[in-house]
Amino acid sequence: MDEPNIYQPCLNCQGGRKHLQSATLMTWLGDTLISVPNFPAWICDICGHRSYDSQALAQLSMMLNPEAGTPVQPALTPPDKKPRANTPPPS
Ligand SMILES: [Zn+2]
Repeated sequence: MDEPNIYQPCLNCQGGRKHLQSATLMTWLGDTLISVPNFPAWICDICGHRSYDSQALAQLSMMLNPEAGTPVQPALTPPDKKPRANTPPPS
């Protein structure tokens, strides 16, 4: 497989080229900081500014969120039944 020499213009330094490389992504999963090695990232060859691949980020968030794809239903609160409210205790 030959790798196409693709790059994105760097918007940070306005002159660099960002190449797709592997980097370690640090991200928060709830309250836990996790690191994802070998994550595709665009890294500028001049200023080192990096941005992670948006498609890969979308895939990652789907993998990390077990509820992704699950339709969210509004919570139905059952009517509060308190049969003992006005019932005299059995004697
Ligand atoms: Zn740059």
